[in-house]
Amino acid sequence: MENLNKKEFDVIVVGSGPGGATVARELTLAGKKVLLLEQGSNAPVTGSMFQTIRWLGIPFRSLLFTYNALGMVRGITTGGSSVYYYGTAFEPPHDMLNRYNVDIKAEVEETKKELPIAPLSDDLTGPMAKRIMESANSLGYNWQKLTKFIFQDRCRQDCWRCNYGCPYGAKWNARNYVEDAFRKGLTLINGAKVTKVIIENGKAVGVDYKRRLIPQKAYAPLIIISAGGIGTPVILRATGIKKAGFNFFFDPLIAVSGTVKDITGGKEVPMVAGMHMQEDGYVMTDMTVPSALYGGFAAQVGRFDRIMSHKHTLTIMIKEKDSLGGQLTDRGGVRKRLLESDYQSLLRGYERAKKILKNAGAKSIFKSWYIAAHPGGTAKINDIIDSNLKTEFDNLYVCDCSVIPESFGLPPTLTLIGLGKRLAKHLCAKTQI
Ligand SMILES: Cc1cc2nc3c(=O)[nH]c(=O)nc-3n(C[C@H](O)[C@H](O)[C@H](O)COP(=O)(O)OP(=O)(O)OC[C@H]3O[C@@H](n4cnc5c(N)ncnc54)[C@H](O)[C@@H]3O)c2cc1C
Repeated sequence: MENLNKKEFDVIVVGSGPGGATVARELTLAGKKVLLLEQGSNAPVTGSMFQTIRWLGIPFRSLLFTYNALGMVRGITTGGSSVYYYGTAFEPPHDMLNRYNVDIKAEVEETKKELPIAPLSDDLTGPMAKRIMESANSLGYNWQKLTKFIFQDRCRQDCWRCNYGCPYGAKWNARNYVEDAFRKGLTLINGAKVTKVIIENGKAVGVDYKRRLIPQKAYAPLIIISAGGIGTPVILRATGIKKAGFNFFFDPLIAVSGTVKDITGGKEVPMVAGMHMQEDGYVMTDMTVPSALYGGFAAQVGRFDRIMSHKHTLTIMIKEKDSLGGQLTDRGGVRKRLLESDYQSLLRGYERAKKILKNAGAKSIFKSWYIAAHPGGTAKINDIIDSNLKTEFDNLYVCDCSVIPESFGLPPTLTLIGLGKRLAKHLCAKTQI
C-alpha cells in the first residue's frame, strides 16, 4: 500500500473535469503543491470511436441507465466529459447564482480573455448547421450562432471528430488546464479511483483510493472533490454526507432528424447555432453527429429505414431543463423518472423542430430516444455545501457540476470554470494553505 506523505501536498483535487482541472490549475499557478487524482486514463485523445466507447460508453461505468431506458453519459478520462463535449460556451446563470451569494462574473470575464471563446467562423460552419439556421430564421425564430471553446486556426472543415474527442487540439477541453498545471509542477495520478475522504476530528485530512484494485491513501490539509455530478455524491456519501445525490437534474435531450435531398455531408462541428426558449424551458441547436451515432439514434427507435441516410440528414437537438428529482444509489446508479411536464416540454420542442426541418426541405422526420449528458445538482449549494463550496467538514470542498443549486438546462462548462477560479481565489485568500 502506498502512503503519499502527509507533508508532500498542500491540496488534493479528485477528478479532472472542468471543475477539478480549473481549481487544480489555479492553485498550482498560485504556487501550491497539488495532487490531482483521476479515475480515468491519460492516454492521448485519438478521436476514434473505439476510444470513445472505452471512455464514454461502458455500461455501469460511463454509460448509466435509468428508468425508461434513458441513457446518461459521462467521460471517465483526464478532462472528464469535456473531452467529448460539443465545446459550446453558454453564459452562466448569474441571477440564479447570485441568489446563493455566488458571484462569478469577474472569473467568467477572465476566462473569456484566456480561452478561445467565440462563434465559429462561416468557413468552419457546416452546410447542415447553415441550412437549419436559415430555415429557423426564415420562420421568424432568433436562431443565432453560439460561442464555442474552439481554437479555430486548428479546426478543420469536413471534420466530425468533436464527438469522439478532438485529436487536433482544436477543441479546448479541461485537459488543456491539467496540462498547463502539470508543466508548473502539478502531480497527476491516473487510474486512481477515490472511494472516500479520511476525516479526523471533523476535518478532512486525506483520501482513500484504489489504483489497479490496490487500496492506497494520500494526505493533504485541503481536499477538493470534483468527481462530477455522479462521482462526487458517491464519495461524499461514503464519507458520511448521506444527503448527497438526491433531487438532481441531468438535462435530458432528444435529437430530431429529417432527410434532405440536396445536401451531402454529415461531417461538421455540432451545436454551431441555436436558440434558447427560456420560457418553454429548453434549448434547440443543430447537432450533426457521426454516422455510427446517428445510426444508433435511428435503430433505437426502430427507424431502420433511416440508418443509411446519415449523409443527407439534418438533426436538431432539444435539451430540456428538467425538474429536480430522483436519487443515486451508493454506487452511483441513476434512479430518476422524467415527469409528465418534462416529456411535454420535449414534445413541444419536437413540434417546433419538425417545422424548422420541414421548412428546410426535410422529409421522414423522426425523434430519437431520451439521452442525458449533464448530471448536476447532487451536492447543491445551500444544501450540502455553503456558498464557498465547503462541506460540513473542515477543509473539504466540492467543485463541479454537482454544486449547481437549481435545475439548469444549459451546458455548464463556462459556469464550472468560473466556480473553479472563484474557489481557488477563496482558498488562496485563506491562511490555511
Ligand atoms: C456529449 C456531450 C456534449 C456536451 N456538450 C457540452 C457543451 O457543448 N458545452 C458545455 O458547457 N458542456 C457540455 N457538456 C457537459 C460538460 O462536458 C459537463 O457538464 C462537464 O464536463 C462537467 O464537468 P465536471 O467538472 O462537473 O465533471 P466531469 O467532466 O464529469 O469530470 C469528473 C471527473 O472526475 C473523474 N472521477 C469520477 N469519479 C472519480 C473518483 N471516484 N475518483 C477519481 N476520479 C473520479 C472522472 O473520470 C472525470 O474525469 C457535454 C457533455 C457531453 C457528454
